[in-house]
Amino acid sequence: MHFDNAKAADPDAMPSGLILHTYSFTLKHNHMINRTSLFIIICFISSFSHAQPDISRAEPPYWWIGMKNTSLQILLYGRDLGGLKPEIRHPGIHIDSIGQVPNQNYLFLYLTINDDTKAGKFDIDLLNQGRKILKIQYELKERRKGSAARKGFGQEDVIYLLMPDRFANGDTTNDSHSLMLEKSDRSNPDGRHGGDLKGIEDHLGYIAGLGMTALWINPFVENNTPAYSYHGYAITDFYKTDPRIGTNEEYVRLVKKAHDYQLKIIMDMVFNHCGQTHWFINDLPSPDWIHNFNNYTRSNFKAPVIMDPYASKADKSIMLDGWFDTHMPDLNQKNPHLAVYLTQNSIWWVEYADLDGIRMDTYMYPDPGFMAKWRIALKNEYPDLNVVGEIWIEDKTLHAYWMKDAPNNDGFNSELEYLTDFPLFDAIRKSLNESTGWNKGAERIYYCLAKDIAYKYPGNNLTFLTNHDVSQFYTIAGENFGKFRLGITLLLTLRGIPQLYQGVEILMAGDQEEGHGKMRKDFPGGWINDTLNAFTPEGRTPLQQEAFSYVKTIADWRKGCTAVQTGKTLQFIPENDVYVYFRYNEKQTIMIVMNFSDNERTITTERFSEIIKGCRTGKEIISGKNISDITRLTIPALTSLIIELDK
Ligand code: CA
Repeated sequence: MHFDNAKAADPDAMPSGLILHTYSFTLKHNHMINRTSLFIIICFISSFSHAQPDISRAEPPYWWIGMKNTSLQILLYGRDLGGLKPEIRHPGIHIDSIGQVPNQNYLFLYLTINDDTKAGKFDIDLLNQGRKILKIQYELKERRKGSAARKGFGQEDVIYLLMPDRFANGDTTNDSHSLMLEKSDRSNPDGRHGGDLKGIEDHLGYIAGLGMTALWINPFVENNTPAYSYHGYAITDFYKTDPRIGTNEEYVRLVKKAHDYQLKIIMDMVFNHCGQTHWFINDLPSPDWIHNFNNYTRSNFKAPVIMDPYASKADKSIMLDGWFDTHMPDLNQKNPHLAVYLTQNSIWWVEYADLDGIRMDTYMYPDPGFMAKWRIALKNEYPDLNVVGEIWIEDKTLHAYWMKDAPNNDGFNSELEYLTDFPLFDAIRKSLNESTGWNKGAERIYYCLAKDIAYKYPGNNLTFLTNHDVSQFYTIAGENFGKFRLGITLLLTLRGIPQLYQGVEILMAGDQEEGHGKMRKDFPGGWINDTLNAFTPEGRTPLQQEAFSYVKTIADWRKGCTAVQTGKTLQFIPENDVYVYFRYNEKQTIMIVMNFSDNERTITTERFSEIIKGCRTGKEIISGKNISDITRLTIPALTSLIIELDK
């Protein structure tokens, strides 16, 4: 066992004897504690010795009154806490149970907070053989007004995804930090480049100006690992913003400013694993806190074994319990203390930072039963807050298993609303890079949508052309501007919630074959010394400007187009490389015509009469031009038309 994290006091510097000593203690994430106004005072009434128990962490750092779930777990971490008896003498709060774990440096308190409990601070006394030896002050705050009724993101939104380290460096003073192992090195593709929350805050106007309505930011919490820490998925403190990215207060400020720009905020969370250097990995509460095999065992990443009716236990166990990577231990959500810890952490961030949604990483890798319970627990507090889970499976039958209310033979219900739409991503990627044939090219999209029969709620997909884990879209599109346009049109007019990734709109390249570090390029203009600044029209090439305008035009229009947001879909089998589908509701009918060919195509529209119903005119959205006769349309090569019919 280690005591490295428990340096609350230097016992040698204190007088011995029975005294009362009060002090604010320092701890690894002390700047968070200070800035979030958590105020913990520990009182010693004891004779001091090296064996003196102490406390270096209390998590969550504070909580709220008025939560639907009236129970609260407080994890206390320090030195030799295991045998101590906690006491709380405060109206409306009582200790239900104490969770003892093999590691005596932990104590898990389970409290009940009555509905009529007042906000404020209270003491938790820790007693040894009836003698009070430690006192912690804990705080219950008032909730935000209307917190439980928050609406969250939905199909009316277009989400912009960005990676904080690679988007914009708004504060060069935080690029490196004395307590953080990895220092800034922009010359290293796999290193930290210095991007931060301030950089995002400075460019909210840019993002909103592109027609985006929500922001998904890759993890920003502490990743104090020696290398590859920039991507944020090896968390070493679930409650603290990485100091190289900002502070918790800066995050809250960013959310508030984003809301001022009508941008919702979706937080990227990870329950499956954490970083090898996480403080609780350094001093495990219990051996079963993480999964361990006799030898280091990596997940087989074969998610289908979870739903495969013929899967072996051996394969399943390695899929779920193997480590995600050598420096990412696999958390055991079946451990009841950890299950509550993770659930509370997600609720803490929603309440603390005023979030609009959660994107959950590697959704298929944690214990599926726990994840469903977590989803219900979150819904219990925030009925309208949505979650999108990373479901990285291209096969639709397997993908659909994970959508809430899927009629699965094994009875599993994920309770998950939104899924990252890898089947559609795969179909689009392939469709743009092959000639149309019986099931190729444009037919890929047709078949992909036909397979939506597998979903209870087909619109509950987060659609995308790329994200932080795959090549940039312009690279996928073969750096062909026509294919870029087709992709953007599909993304912004098909069912689901469209998600862009930083730089798609300015035709950024990035090939996963080069490795993730190189692929995840910095947004040009995000760094003070950048020669080009693509955040401004002047800094973009004419083609980049055209791409930006293309995205913006459709995204802005989509904001008012309920037919595309939540309407029905009607599609027609592609003919002669031209794919036509409609999005419609009682108010609007939108006709989308896509020419996947390298040559101009002319079509007649009589075969769409069941939906056009004699309408002859409409407005084309991308060009802004009225079309006086839609019965015969000529579409240039690799071009699409989005026509709002005059019905
Ligand atoms: Ca910085």
